[in-house]
Amino acid sequence: MQPATDIAALTDKGRAVVYAGLDRAQAKAGPRQRLTVSEWADLHRWLTSKQTGEPGQWRTSRNPMLREIQDAFSLNNAIREIWVMKSSQVGVSEACVNVLGYYMDHEPCPLIYLMPTLEESQKWKAQKLNPMLQEPGRIRDIMGGLRSRDAANNQTMIDFPGGILFMGGGNSPNSYAQKTARVALIDDFDRFPGEVGDEGDPEGLVRGRVKTYPTTHKLGFISTPTIKGASLIERGFDRTDRRRYHVACPHCGHRQHLRWGNLKWDQASAIPAWAEYECEQCGHGIRENHKPTLLREGIWIPERPEIITRRGYQVTALTAPIGLGPSWLSLAQDFLIAKQDPGTLKVFVNQNLGETWEDNTNKVTSHELAKRMGTDDMRVIPPGCLAITVGIDTQDDWLAVTLLGWGAPLRPDGPPRLWILDWYDIRVSNRNTTHPELWDELETYLHLPLINHYGRPMKISAGLIDSRGHRSKEVRDFVQRPSLRVVLYSGQGATNRMNRPIAQTASDVDKNRKGKALRSGYGVWNVGTEHVKSYLYGRLAADGDLPPAERIIHFPAGLPTDYFDGLLSEVYDPEKRRFVQKPGAKYKRNEPIDTLTYAWAVAHHKNVMIGLRHTRAGYVNDMSWWKRRAETLESPPVGRVAVPAVPGAMPLGQPAPEGRLSLAQWGRKT
Ligand SMILES: [Zn+2]
Repeated sequence: MQPATDIAALTDKGRAVVYAGLDRAQAKAGPRQRLTVSEWADLHRWLTSKQTGEPGQWRTSRNPMLREIQDAFSLNNAIREIWVMKSSQVGVSEACVNVLGYYMDHEPCPLIYLMPTLEESQKWKAQKLNPMLQEPGRIRDIMGGLRSRDAANNQTMIDFPGGILFMGGGNSPNSYAQKTARVALIDDFDRFPGEVGDEGDPEGLVRGRVKTYPTTHKLGFISTPTIKGASLIERGFDRTDRRRYHVACPHCGHRQHLRWGNLKWDQASAIPAWAEYECEQCGHGIRENHKPTLLREGIWIPERPEIITRRGYQVTALTAPIGLGPSWLSLAQDFLIAKQDPGTLKVFVNQNLGETWEDNTNKVTSHELAKRMGTDDMRVIPPGCLAITVGIDTQDDWLAVTLLGWGAPLRPDGPPRLWILDWYDIRVSNRNTTHPELWDELETYLHLPLINHYGRPMKISAGLIDSRGHRSKEVRDFVQRPSLRVVLYSGQGATNRMNRPIAQTASDVDKNRKGKALRSGYGVWNVGTEHVKSYLYGRLAADGDLPPAERIIHFPAGLPTDYFDGLLSEVYDPEKRRFVQKPGAKYKRNEPIDTLTYAWAVAHHKNVMIGLRHTRAGYVNDMSWWKRRAETLESPPVGRVAVPAVPGAMPLGQPAPEGRLSLAQWGRKT
């Protein structure tokens, strides 16, 4: 097939002539010739500068590993089920658009495209699909211009001659209901919920949609993987023939698929100046400028060729073409930054290597954690601690509180330092959390003075209190108490997997008569508990390998042993895809990890943002924020509590003054 006809550059009339010519040629050649997806894309797909840094005619040869993946979706290929476990930014998303264009033009039929949520599918439509529908080219021509069909087209459906494309969110039963498709593409599958409402698992639901095409359907599951054992795309990929892209060493000819462990880089400087790939056979270095040849001559080799019904591709950014994805050198540089923090490293492994991240919660023991306790007493604010958040867990009979201190990252790209400043149970004999007395105690506790190392008073920046369970009314009343001088948000663990610490908007919000959310009204904020716990557990594990001064999470002296049992009371259950009580744990209380989770999450609340900025790439450190805090709170040093800065301030490390919080309670529980 002759590729790279510059069709999009022609006028409408010019294109009509070209198509007529092609049709005549095909008619002469006998029955209509069937193209592969790659052939179709090379002929009819045009990329605009909105979609790529290299606008112009699509050329599959520019990214050779995509050819076989695209062509697995071709009509002449008998494979029905394709799983792609991929790194991000390697062109697979554009290949999916090619598949849709191919069917719209070449074999019109019902198509389904699902993303984790409706919002994401709409974003995908605007960014990826609309350019193909609206820019000059074959698809716009067969649509006859979108305008004439506007009535039937909307955000979730596109009607084209001979077929229809449904788009939707994998979290909504509506996206599956009563829709039938011959081709179903499921994108970002790892972020789909385990269950869709009461309807069942998304994979089963999608399979139900293509049943009416038992011998001609195509099912594509595509995703960047997440946590090992919990990843839906990895689970699916493991059942396939597991193909990896093999390239031949230019020195010895040995074919191999590229593994992260064989990438070598300049060890002489902190920021490497070169990187190369070490052949697993001959040990010679393969330089990046060999890549075009390597990729052009590469082939997909299955690990389990005996499996012929399910095709699987694992795509790593190590095989990204020069200019279209990260270079080996930039991967090495990114890795050196990422490896300093388990949260960032997880993202690096998922998004660049296309591999799952192994949760290493089980590597830490409470005995080992207890050894990390420092010498400061509880409520002593160490130098460097520049902000405080609070996490509160609501039980039927008591409240549990963690005060969490925050300090500037040790490096601009590192995570902020954390200090557990206090861990406290609030109980009143013969009273439970339906009684105001317990809540009065909590208010008193939150108003206790906190004085830093330099004698300056500090306030709790914000807090998050658990509003699940039986006490949602009491929590609601408490956070709205006029006398409360700490900003408290009420929160709950999100039932869907949320890839961020805390939601951007609240649910159950107070509304005015017109139904508009009240700015100062009450609301419940979803917390991405799996995301947060995964970070905290990963961090606790990673800290174990570091000298005390470089650790991120610090513990005060005097924490009871069962605090650490409680902190480690949960493990990630890959089957349930959430954290559950550690099987066989003798200690059943999980408030230490729950309160820490809340105290950590609230720092990411859009109105709080402790030392953070939110960008399109996610949260990034705001070093100038930390600098300003340090200037206010720590310089010039006024000496360690020479003069209490607020009247009646509590001397450091001393018990709280007698107040509404009874002294008996102030003493540590044993
Ligand atoms: Zn070699």
